[in-house]
Amino acid sequence: MQKITIAIDGFSSCGKSTLAKALAQRLNYSYVDTGAMYRAVTLFALQNGLIDKDQKLDEEGLINSLDKIELSFIFDAHTKSSQTFLNGVNVDRDIRSMEVSGLVSMVSSIKKVREKMIALQRQMGKKKGVVMDGRDIGTNVFPKADLKIFMTADNDVRAQRRLDEYTSKGQYFTKEEVKRKLMKRDHDDSTRKENPLTQAEDAIVLDNSDISREDQLEFVLKLIDDLHLLMKEQEKEKERQRHH
Ligand code: C5P
Repeated sequence: MQKITIAIDGFSSCGKSTLAKALAQRLNYSYVDTGAMYRAVTLFALQNGLIDKDQKLDEEGLINSLDKIELSFIFDAHTKSSQTFLNGVNVDRDIRSMEVSGLVSMVSSIKKVREKMIALQRQMGKKKGVVMDGRDIGTNVFPKADLKIFMTADNDVRAQRRLDEYTSKGQYFTKEEVKRKLMKRDHDDSTRKENPLTQAEDAIVLDNSDISREDQLEFVLKLIDDLHLLMKEQEKEKERQRHH
């Protein structure tokens, strides 16, 4: 079957990566977590003293250091997930800390940072057969993606999911704190100047507040089946026209 490009965008903690990973596994596609890239750049800025104690970013310093940031993603057969490496070091755990989450929107709003990440993302998806999740995949990275999903969920549900995620890693916060930070990040991501989070006009909305993971997967697999049928029809039609 013809390989396609699948773009999954949406708010924070909507279950984008859970769905994207399950789809990639089922279709034997590669999965690209673009949020991990912006998180890794944020971690780099923290590790290199480019963010001070008042959370002020040395923007010029970061832009000048972009050439020193090398990102790679290696599939770990044991955990069945892709691990993020920053300059050869596995940072997959560190990039998901509350500290990085609180600073990443500031870093991802910088034009030069986005240019570098987007070039990398386009490179990683150029052969199709990819599921990519983020904030601007369907609108900006792959505006011609074959299938675009825009995910959303109730704010309380999202805050609880994120809280559970932190708790399972031994990081303890109150739900209120998690929710407040989540709302702020969504606001910052949606109102920034460079490629803000918006729903692509041709995206299919998936509100998964009350939908199980299995049902979400089935829903999207059905969309993909329908799309393949349509593509086949279009191919046949072209063939017909060629013979006339
Ligand atoms: O998806 P995740 O929560 O890991 O994304 C972290 C942050 O990276 C987002 O809040 C956003 O600031 C940034 N991001 C982005 N564009 C993307 C993916 C993520 O700006 N395509």
